[in-house]
Amino acid sequence: MEKKQFQAESQRLLEMMVHSIYSQKEIFIRELISNASDAIDKIYYKALTDDSISFNKDDYFIKVTADKDKRTLTILDTGIGMTKEELESNLGTIAKSGSLAFKKEIEMEEGQEIIGQFGVGFYSSFMVADKVTVYTKSLYSDEGYKWESDGQDGYTIETYDKDIVGTEIVLHLKEDTEDEDYTKFLEEFQLRSIIKKHSDFIRYPIKMDITKTEPKSEDDDELVETTEEEIINSMVPIWRKNKQELKKEDYESFYQEKHFGFDQPLSYQHISVDGMVRFQSILYIPEQLPFNYYSQDFEKGLELYSNGVLIMEKCADLLPDHFSFIRGVVDSEDLSLNISREILQQDRQVKRIANNLEKKIKNHLQSMLKNERDKYETFFNVFGKQLKYGVYADFGANKDKLQDLLLFFSSKEEKLVSLKEYRERMKEDQKFIYYATGESHDKIAKLPQIELVTDKGYEVLYFTDEVDEFAIKMLMNYDDKEFKNVSSGDLGIENEEEKKEIEKQKEEHQDILKDMKELLGTKVKEVRLSSRLKSHPVCLSAEGDVSIDMEKVLQQMPD
Ligand code: ADP
Ligand code: MG
Repeated sequence: MEKKQFQAESQRLLEMMVHSIYSQKEIFIRELISNASDAIDKIYYKALTDDSISFNKDDYFIKVTADKDKRTLTILDTGIGMTKEELESNLGTIAKSGSLAFKKEIEMEEGQEIIGQFGVGFYSSFMVADKVTVYTKSLYSDEGYKWESDGQDGYTIETYDKDIVGTEIVLHLKEDTEDEDYTKFLEEFQLRSIIKKHSDFIRYPIKMDITKTEPKSEDDDELVETTEEEIINSMVPIWRKNKQELKKEDYESFYQEKHFGFDQPLSYQHISVDGMVRFQSILYIPEQLPFNYYSQDFEKGLELYSNGVLIMEKCADLLPDHFSFIRGVVDSEDLSLNISREILQQDRQVKRIANNLEKKIKNHLQSMLKNERDKYETFFNVFGKQLKYGVYADFGANKDKLQDLLLFFSSKEEKLVSLKEYRERMKEDQKFIYYATGESHDKIAKLPQIELVTDKGYEVLYFTDEVDEFAIKMLMNYDDKEFKNVSSGDLGIENEEEKKEIEKQKEEHQDILKDMKELLGTKVKEVRLSSRLKSHPVCLSAEGDVSIDMEKVLQQMPD
């Protein structure tokens, strides 16, 4: 027998989990069942793509057994099992993707009860157990293994005689304390309702022995106890269910079950398409920004199922970059099951689904903007930047799709407005859609160049994101109106008389302007009179189409 230490981090995580979280301990059952289901998915998928493995659907199930005398709870599955190496790397270390993300999140939001919502996976079993034993045999190994740990100081592994491929996890439940009742997890009724609550959508049967009290026979009224194996879950995946039967809570708990985020979904969509391509999908917009969203670590993608079997956890081809914040699942009966990742990229069905989804997402956002304005603004404050990048990317190829989803802060009422709203309330004589750039709304509002434009009663959009102006340059115009930076050349505001007056003054003051230019040397290109200033004596103005702020960004860019 070997005894090994957990990685240092594992212990810290366990401590945190066991000691800081008092509610929602029951989620450990959901975690273990979903691992069991994943393990069956893996073998099922293998069998469907590999003729040498036979698969009889009836052989695949999860069974939960409680033993009150021994104080054990057992979760058995007939999934793919684990080799010795897998046992070590999967259950012995947590410094992996998901857990690492988890740690960062904790640091970000200290004091919040995140763990209850987060998929802490296998480790969550130590919230209720003081010893966990795992018996497993991999499809790829002739030998079975027994892994055991108290969750505190390491684990042991030894070989174990196990007949069938699969995994059996035995939790030795902690003794009850004044504050905590662990025995409830052994009560049939409680156990059953917890499973139903969190794991009803699992696509394999979850079995339990259910005790019934019945008359001995038709003639004999004496009551006897009998046990019968029952399937607890309904097994229909949520996306296959009828929308009318589902409640907001169902969608929210599926979001949690899938670990799509630490938060609640801000909005969801349930899509069912039955046309050129058939598929069902549930899509979510998270409420909060994933901590790595605007970094290179972030991976977009949807879970892809082929007729109920998971074939890819993050299918990136299903989402355009400008909607990369969407999380969710797609299931299609029209996908060939032996699609490998490489072939998938070219799969025409996937393309079709992706195009269809893009339209659906766009429509959803548009109707949110129209009917749930506050919610949309919440969304836009979190993910709006991505839409602006989307307009800018691919040389504006997506601008028509996205321009009506953009919001900008406006001088009018100091609120977010859409371009459509701006356009609709433009004054009759207004030639351009005006904007100003700067670090903050306050600073922009104080710009000398703004005064005249707002004085004329024109609205000005405030650009504080670097990407704003780049996106606008890509759009060029909106509904036939050009965008104009308030600090650029001709604002289309002066009337003929004003223009003549300027010309006249320029002649008169030629000398002083020349002197000023000489004094400033190469710092400026030209010194000229302006009719655009009111209470400010002077302003800087950019040459041509590129604003001062944009020039700054361009200068920072690598060549
Ligand atoms: P996650 O499920 O997010 O990967 P977990 O902590 O829940 O994280 O599980 C860690 C890993 O252990 C799984 O990815 C899987 O490889 C393995 N594992 C856990 N339970 C089982 C099981 N019942 N059968 C096979 N492998 C399992
Ligand atoms: Mg898991």
